[in-house]
Amino acid sequence: MQTISIVVPCYNEEENVRDFYDELMKNESFFEKNELVPEIIYVDDGSTDKTAAEVKKLASEDKHVHLISFTRNFGKEAGIYAGLSKSTGEYVALMDADLQDPPSLLPEMFEGMREGYDSVATRRVSRKGEPPIRSFFARRFYKLINRMSRTEIVDGARDFRLMTRRFVDAVLSMSEYNRFTKGIFSWVGFETKWIEYENVERLKGETKWSFWKLFIYAIDGIVAFTTAPLAIASFLGVLFCVLAFVLIIVTIIRKTLFGDPTSGWPSLVCIISLISGVQLFCLGIIGQYMAKTYMEVKNRPIYLVREEF
Ligand code: UDP
Ligand code: MG
Repeated sequence: MQTISIVVPCYNEEENVRDFYDELMKNESFFEKNELVPEIIYVDDGSTDKTAAEVKKLASEDKHVHLISFTRNFGKEAGIYAGLSKSTGEYVALMDADLQDPPSLLPEMFEGMREGYDSVATRRVSRKGEPPIRSFFARRFYKLINRMSRTEIVDGARDFRLMTRRFVDAVLSMSEYNRFTKGIFSWVGFETKWIEYENVERLKGETKWSFWKLFIYAIDGIVAFTTAPLAIASFLGVLFCVLAFVLIIVTIIRKTLFGDPTSGWPSLVCIISLISGVQLFCLGIIGQYMAKTYMEVKNRPIYLVREEF
């Protein structure tokens, strides 16, 4: 018998805990046929509702159900890290609690393991049910980050993934504080098989991601996986030096040929504003990297546990 761990990050998912379990257990014959024992790890990411209580109820009925409860909300990335650390299975699946990652795909994903892949990932081919403006910015983000970073971040890739133990261990060996899991999964390498499916809408409750949260997440992703923006500062610096040099020559020639009537105040103001704007922008970029470095150097724990079994 081999163990298959199912890691489920939950933040205020009291309505979905049991539905997820029921849906997952529809795979019982698949588990039996492949001699797999499920180990279901719910990670309660500081929920303020009855998520933990629901999990405990489930655990009293099925000893394969486990829980890690955080002391507060640490974010989904921390939840993933905690769940993966706790998992003991030869195979580990990572799934959302809201059933947007259909458990019925597991048998097909497991085929990939049999074929020798170390990770089988899923990608949604449509963004049905998502606000169009969000889809637009999501697409722009993937274009941008893939142009800047050497780590490939697949558009539409979900966190829904089945992994072998050695893949999970590789992910866990990256113990950085600023975790951008989509990038980490790609960074560790190994062969990944992609499975595509139509977007499924959330079963109950609502999404935990506001537009603003996603925007910050996008910036975190860029800062975590490329330093290309830092080069912008040097590039602009060189550009402005060249420009200044040309202007100096023009000014000298004009002065010697035509004298120096006092004018050009408006253009001077424009130039000063432009250049200070660019300078602040570049400082901002450097600030972003410095802030991340600062957080990393503090070496704080990625999550803190209130309760675990
Ligand atoms: N989640 C979490 N911590 C958070 C936010 C979300 O553990 O701070 C979990 C959430 O409970 C769900 C999964 O991450 O199981 C995906 O979240 P959600 O469905 O809100 O995101 P969406 O599917 O809309 O991108
Ligand atoms: Mg969801």
